[in-house]
Amino acid sequence: MAETTIRDRSIHREAVGDYRWEGVDCLPYKDDDRALFKTVTRQVLFSDPELSGELRYFEVAPGGFSTLERHHHMHAVLILRGRGHCLVGSEVRRVELHDLVTVPPLTWHQFRATLGEPLGFLCMVNAGRDKPQLPSAEDLAKLRADREIATFLDNRVAAS
Ligand code: MN
Repeated sequence: MAETTIRDRSIHREAVGDYRWEGVDCLPYKDDDRALFKTVTRQVLFSDPELSGELRYFEVAPGGFSTLERHHHMHAVLILRGRGHCLVGSEVRRVELHDLVTVPPLTWHQFRATLGEPLGFLCMVNAGRDKPQLPSAEDLAKLRADREIATFLDNRVAAS
């Protein structure tokens, strides 16, 4: 097992265009019946037993969105492609290329490609992490009590 790990530990993976990297699988998140997310792909850029973190690249196609979730682990996000909006806690923010977003522990969050372009971002996480929690009907009702959040969740964020 250890040999396999070392053999796979490439020291240089070239960028091969369109936000892809040599030898890195691009995994579509399979759309599920609950429509928790829409048109999101994931690439794991760095993951190694010797690292306590992982770096992933997610890309949300125009009109798509990531899962609305929360968990004990944090995210550190860098917008690498396009622009859109995100919800973090009670804040809806427009995010632009190269912006940084911190998602604190146990904070509801979602990324949406609201502005007609892909929204791609690097996301740093703990290697060992808890499973995301999904909002209950009650959680959703609490979030929707804020008009701006309701607008965001309904994918009706203004392009301004
Ligand atoms: Mn998350």
